[in-house]
Amino acid sequence: MAHVAFIGLGRMGHGMAGRYLDNGFAVAVWNRSKSKAERLIARGARWASSPADAADGADAIVTMVADDEASRAVWLGKDGAAATAKAGTLAIECSTVSYRHALDLARELRGRDLVYIDSPVTGLPDAAASGKLTLLIGAEPADLERARPYLAPLSTTIRHFGAVGTGTVYKLINNLMGAIQIAGIAEGLAIAELAGLDMKLVLEAVETGVAASPQVIRHSKRMAARNFSGATFTAALRYKDAAYAVALAESLLSAVPVMGRAAVEAYDRAKAHAPNDDEGKMIEIVSRPKGTTK
Ligand code: NAP
Repeated sequence: MAHVAFIGLGRMGHGMAGRYLDNGFAVAVWNRSKSKAERLIARGARWASSPADAADGADAIVTMVADDEASRAVWLGKDGAAATAKAGTLAIECSTVSYRHALDLARELRGRDLVYIDSPVTGLPDAAASGKLTLLIGAEPADLERARPYLAPLSTTIRHFGAVGTGTVYKLINNLMGAIQIAGIAEGLAIAELAGLDMKLVLEAVETGVAASPQVIRHSKRMAARNFSGATFTAALRYKDAAYAVALAESLLSAVPVMGRAAVEAYDRAKAHAPNDDEGKMIEIVSRPKGTTK
């Protein structure tokens, strides 16, 4: 039986780890707070006392944590997964990390004879739990072929962009474009509301107009209704992704990434307002009438 170590059981990781159990893998799990592992343990996962314990004896290690800092801690920290992983183990990083971090981590893990797969994802937590994610891969072709049996339980679509790091480049531009759109919807809807337009009509027009995209359609309804239940992606995570994307943009473009920087600023404010709530809550800040501060 193939052994998977799954590290990071947040909104996304919990469902992803469950997919390995559903597909007959032996699964060891670790999360910083153990309470999130209870349902997986009840389904047959082994609770590991540390990332190193989870990685001990694993054929593949899959991580899904918040950011660069968390990724560094679970791979390379004291009791990190790299401490016990055997040579040749697949190291599959699914978290959205910065481009610099993806390259540094890959180099570090390769130096320890692990096979690094850059695999950020698109899809919401329900797609994670039902194996319907899209994986954005940066890897050597032969490494990807070896990893496929461990990627299949998670995904319906695998997009291979090229060498290690290219999956992360695509993920960051995807989420930067999303951040710009969502910040734009908040401003557009706030203007319409404060100008007194019929919002039912505005939503109908937005959804069928040229500016509509799946992102715009999903968020415009939630923002207009101020319905932020079932938060899937938080303001803090969106800020992090936009900031990583702008750092990459600034390393490549001669022109200032004006839209990207504006999105970072917008999400910095949304994060200060409600870091762990739905990203769409930024409309609560944007829609304050002129002359008010709160
Ligand atoms: P989440 O629910 O906030 O979970 C974050 C996970 O990271 C938790 O397991 C958390 O542990 C862990 N973590 C945070 N800091 C840590 C540290 N310093 N050391 C060890 N573990 C740490 O986030 P999520 O929505 O699952 O997102 C996970 C990743 O997927 C992020 O990179 C995100 O950008 C990406 N992503 C999310 C979505 C989405 O729709 N939510 C979609 C695509 C990609 P605790 O439980 O102990 O806090």
